[in-house]
Amino acid sequence: MKTLIANWKMNVGIRESVALARGTLLTLRGRKLIPELVICPSTIALSEVRKVVARSSVSLGAQNVFWESKGPYTGEISTRMLQEVGVSYVILGHSERRQELHETDEMIHKKVLYVLSEQMTPILCIGESKQQREAGQTQEVIRAQLISALSQVYVRGSERVLIAYEPVWAIGSGEASSVGEVIEIHQYIRSFLQELFPGVSSQQLPILYGGSVDGENAYGFLREEMIDGLLIGGASIKINQFNDIVEAAGEVLEAQGT
Ligand code: PEP
Repeated sequence: MKTLIANWKMNVGIRESVALARGTLLTLRGRKLIPELVICPSTIALSEVRKVVARSSVSLGAQNVFWESKGPYTGEISTRMLQEVGVSYVILGHSERRQELHETDEMIHKKVLYVLSEQMTPILCIGESKQQREAGQTQEVIRAQLISALSQVYVRGSERVLIAYEPVWAIGSGEASSVGEVIEIHQYIRSFLQELFPGVSSQQLPILYGGSVDGENAYGFLREEMIDGLLIGGASIKINQFNDIVEAAGEVLEAQGT
């Protein structure tokens, strides 16, 4: 299986989100094999987008959540509220939130625990900055982020935790990481996850890549067995680009006979 996560960020309002969701459904039409597809509109557009994707195979994700079910947390949103509008996935630890909103590892950890306890699926974003990469600290940074976010986490039954490896320097920069480098890091993450979660299958802990993926480079990532899918920002709101990415995923699935 290959998974595509479309992160629309704070880029489109309600009307545009509905149009984009309709366009996204059209990209799936007539395809024999389709990837697992999760679209993550802004919170305000979720309920309208839900109406569009309700009877499709597309799932809804949120871009953030709080770690309590209710209470005096002005401006925050709970898992229950998200579930009311059909959300089953939540992006957590995105570098934009780590940087712009000073979200700490501790906060991300609380959110991961909370989302899992509410039977939702976290999409945990990890990745090194340019300086960390240049200082040769990539593995160290990723390891620390995984340890912090996933401590006391148990992946039981059919639960899943999606890991999105997103080097910060590649996000929105137009400069995607090379496939070779991504494979190397994914191998590192995979072996570390096996240590953290012995006996849990890799299908329950898929590792995705994110960072300047577009219609042209998507196939190169998706054809690699080590790369379970992609988290796409900018190209997910350009319907032609996204169509090419979905098509690339379909080709890979067909070639794999899955
Ligand atoms: C992202 O939003 O996590 C992302 C990878 O964005 P982009 O595809 O625009 O680099």
